[in-house]
Amino acid sequence: MKIILLGAPGAGKGTVAKLLSEYDGSVQISTGDILRSAVKTGSELGKKAKAYMDAGDLVPDELIMALMRERLAAPDCRQGFILDGFPRTIPQADALKGLLRELRIELDFVVSLEVPREVILDRLTTRRTCSNPDCQEIYNIKSNPPLPDGRCKKCGSLTIQRDDETEAAIQYRLETYEKKTSPLIEFYRTEGLLRQFPSVSSVETVAAVKRQLGK
Ligand code: ADP
Ligand code: ZN
Repeated sequence: MKIILLGAPGAGKGTVAKLLSEYDGSVQISTGDILRSAVKTGSELGKKAKAYMDAGDLVPDELIMALMRERLAAPDCRQGFILDGFPRTIPQADALKGLLRELRIELDFVVSLEVPREVILDRLTTRRTCSNPDCQEIYNIKSNPPLPDGRCKKCGSLTIQRDDETEAAIQYRLETYEKKTSPLIEFYRTEGLLRQFPSVSSVETVAAVKRQLGK
């Protein structure tokens, strides 16, 4: 499959992307994960991106496009990909359109995960992430807690609350989403690519996306 996942922070893009990628082997491409590991390893990209990310701001479009231009041209993308967290702005969506045309890649559709704001807020403040950059398993202290001592069930590293997941940072990220990213819904509606999915549970969403692909 070749799809884009759209949705507010906390809408469940990461979980849905992972399940879809396990389903048919399409690669999950999460710009957030790529950027976070770049920050951890201290690469050039990481150094440039860190301050924006800590503040809950978007990383500049040029940096993201340089990253994605390289990533989408990699051979593993030919089988299929799930874009998770990209594009995030109208300029990125415009640039992606040109890039896909150049690479002769045609998208199946754009999945918009529709989740009420209260649900988003609750999910984000209760989220914990494994601190091991090679694992980054996501937990929720209410619905899917890590081990009782706060360690990751998969790799045993400590789970943490990300710097951008404090109450104030979350508010700011949601505002950024409304301003910069939510216009993409109209953009892809106009392109005829938008498919909307009420995000009840990630498993149900995945089933609905598979049905849509079957058509
Ligand atoms: P979220 O949980 O907010 O969806 P992500 O893990 O997708 O978070 O991204 C974390 C941070 O990485 C964002 O707040 C932003 O600073 C940066 N980032 C990720 N993807 C993009 C993108 N496509 N454009 C600009 N910045 C991005
Ligand atoms: Zn882990």
